[in-house]
Amino acid sequence: MIKTDVCIIGAGPSGASTSLTLSKMKIPHYIIDKSTFPRDKTCGDGLILYAYKALRLLDEGLFSKFLNHPKFIHSKNIKLHINSKLSINFKESEDRNMVITYAKRYDFDYFLVNNLSKKYASLDFGNGVKNISELKDGVLIKLKDGKEILSKIVIGADGVNSIVARKLAGNKIQKNLTSTFVNGYFKNVINLPKTNEAEIRIIYKKIPLFFYIFPLADGSVNISLGGNAKLILKHNINLVEEVETIIRSHPKVAYKFINAIKIDSWRGWSIPYNFGKNKVYGNRFMLVGDAAGLTNPFYKEGVGTGMMSGIICAQSIEASLKNNNFSAIFLATYAKNLNNEFGRLLKFSRLMLKATQFKFLFGAITYLLKNKIELKATKVIKRKSY
Ligand SMILES: Cc1cc2nc3c(=O)[nH]c(=O)nc-3n(C[C@H](O)[C@H](O)[C@H](O)COP(=O)(O)OP(=O)(O)OC[C@H]3O[C@@H](n4cnc5c(N)ncnc54)[C@H](O)[C@@H]3O)c2cc1C
Repeated sequence: MIKTDVCIIGAGPSGASTSLTLSKMKIPHYIIDKSTFPRDKTCGDGLILYAYKALRLLDEGLFSKFLNHPKFIHSKNIKLHINSKLSINFKESEDRNMVITYAKRYDFDYFLVNNLSKKYASLDFGNGVKNISELKDGVLIKLKDGKEILSKIVIGADGVNSIVARKLAGNKIQKNLTSTFVNGYFKNVINLPKTNEAEIRIIYKKIPLFFYIFPLADGSVNISLGGNAKLILKHNINLVEEVETIIRSHPKVAYKFINAIKIDSWRGWSIPYNFGKNKVYGNRFMLVGDAAGLTNPFYKEGVGTGMMSGIICAQSIEASLKNNNFSAIFLATYAKNLNNEFGRLLKFSRLMLKATQFKFLFGAITYLLKNKIELKATKVIKRKSY
């Protein structure tokens, strides 16, 4: 049996950031993933706010490599279309570089994993966790190949269906606090803005759906559509049919897709935003990223929040090891620190998401407050990003 102080399960952006921070602290650890990298992950491929902040905190050199990566492109504009007449512009000023970066997860997650420490991180990829249980002197992790690891503390960075969240925290997926999305890639999409502006639309069916068009470095385009998982089930909404209808006939969208060719099939996945309602720590474990329900309910940022949670988590791991204390009481500080960083923004975003359900009221309020929102957003973006 392998013995270690720390074992991270999942090497997506949240697990990789935890590992990178631990390595900076010179803390040896294991990091396991069921996939080998590069691997794909269903995502909109848009990086904003916390992704920049986290990359800078991890390493200025890494941030600079990210800015100059040939497969990542940056834009100064995001346009959120509330309806056909009203949009909110999130625009960067002349002196700042970008408000959004488009990076295929296939490339971005590989970029992070490639920068993991050779000295402090022991990588075990292509080897899924099959079982996990708490023993008196550690957490026992059983892997697919039969290997067993006993770790003083374990970090659940294993996404929305986290085995750590299920087995150690006893958390269940909460459909009312989850979004369901479909996503696909197209080529030959025309009439896109030269500025690589992100196009986001609230599309009202029986419920509000969010539609995203994000351009990528290879000339293809990432399309996503989704909404609240519980409401989608309740109203029997078929997201693939809806997204194909939008592309075929929406007056502001269809003309861009006249010659478009779909590159692969539609893929569906969940986005959890239950932070504050589920356990994120307990005896000998902490959860980060999607496993902790940390995506933004309104604009669905999950990569950046996940990375930032990994950095915050590593600070608690360091304190735990120093004090040889892995109890739930000691680790409670982690939840407090997460709440200090994300609490207000996530609560506000959840409120905004609820407000979108009242189509006319939401339209009227955003119409009246458009200038104020745009001004305030600029300040929030500066504070929460780079
Ligand atoms: C359609 C869609 C669009 C989205 N668009 C955006 C966007 O534009 N911008 C944004 O910021 N966020 C977006 N998100 C959210 C974002 O994808 C997630 O929040 C983000 O991937 C969370 O990162 P993570 O590291 O916590 O989890 P993940 O990226 O899911 O990584 C988890 C890792 O754990 C591994 N794993 C899982 N189970 C096991 C196991 N049992 N054993 C070993 N390894 C395991 C997996 O292989 C994976 O590598 C979108 C999500 C969806 C579904």
